[in-house]
Amino acid sequence: MGRVYNFSAGPAVLPEEVLKEAADEMLDYKGTGMSVMEMSHRSKAFDDIIKEAEKDIRELMGIPDNYKVLFLQGGASQQFSAVPMNLMKNKKAAYIITGQWAKKAYQEAQKYGEAIAVASSADKTFSYIPDCSDLDIPEDADYVYICENNTIYGTKYKTLPNTKGHTLVADVSSCFLSEPVDVTKYGVIYGGVQKNVGPAGVVIAIIREDLITDDVLDGTPTMLKWKTQADADSLYNTPPCYGIYICGKVFKWIKKMGGLEAMKAHNEKKAKILYDYLDQSKLFKGTVVPEDRSLMNVPFVTGDAELDKKFVAEATAAGFVNLKGHRTVGGMRASIYNAMPIEGVEKLVEFMKKFEAENA
Ligand SMILES: *Cc1c(COP(=O)(O)O)cnc(C)c1O
Repeated sequence: MGRVYNFSAGPAVLPEEVLKEAADEMLDYKGTGMSVMEMSHRSKAFDDIIKEAEKDIRELMGIPDNYKVLFLQGGASQQFSAVPMNLMKNKKAAYIITGQWAKKAYQEAQKYGEAIAVASSADKTFSYIPDCSDLDIPEDADYVYICENNTIYGTKYKTLPNTKGHTLVADVSSCFLSEPVDVTKYGVIYGGVQKNVGPAGVVIAIIREDLITDDVLDGTPTMLKWKTQADADSLYNTPPCYGIYICGKVFKWIKKMGGLEAMKAHNEKKAKILYDYLDQSKLFKGTVVPEDRSLMNVPFVTGDAELDKKFVAEATAAGFVNLKGHRTVGGMRASIYNAMPIEGVEKLVEFMKKFEAENA
């Protein structure tokens, strides 16, 4: 069996070139006689890997010098705790609830202070992004929190909320490096890399330096204090070395593809093929309002749970895998991250057309 078209929401498809390169270097990384998995995180070879990775992501995203780039563990979910622990000086923060991941972060923050839901799209199963132009944000809120691309529901902020001068914190797990970003608009950008950047086990956090302090909540574990990690250049303890090495290769791949502008064009082209088909299909229907649609995660339904099931089964047999929607939503979801080739989406749409004709 060859490679399938993998529409998984995460861990997800990675560029084939990157996987091949990693395979070539598996037994002997650049004449060291060992795999990156086997080497000390204090070695010269690994120091070069992590420094090069940081340099490349800084270049790709245009990260200003007054921001730190941290390579961490614990998944995006661990930052749900780290964010309030590091930032809740006034023990108050504003959360915008646009799906399950935002809600989990909000619930976690309630353990540490007053987390206030200032907007939500729960009334329509998170199928849109609420108007965030004039939110009622308390003066003394420490930050405003968003989940920028909602992996499960398939929505994405097209304009950032008006935070009224407050620090913006964004979970970008499922839209990381998918398009250009103005880092200066954020205090903290973080994401688990297993959606769009690399293998599970690495979280990248980009944090403005003035937010990295010793003034954290009492009881904050040493490992969750951003300053611990920043002072040690992400090497306070053993980092997820192999994952960082693969992320570094993905950064090089994105650079070779033309950077984030080119990625955006590539992603828009792919998403358009799928959305255009969904918009005219008599069988399948997208679940998100057009203006808030994600370029990365595309949920759709037939309206008949049995037919959805049949579609997923037949698609899987044809080599289009992981199209089943999230267990809380049902239906289907095609995640079409950076590394999904355009042919993958074209062939999926061809398959959907055939299924539609056969099941009309
Ligand atoms: C997958 C995902 C998470 C959870 O990531 P873990 O690394 O499993 O903790 C959080 N936020 C978003 C937006 C996600 O897509």
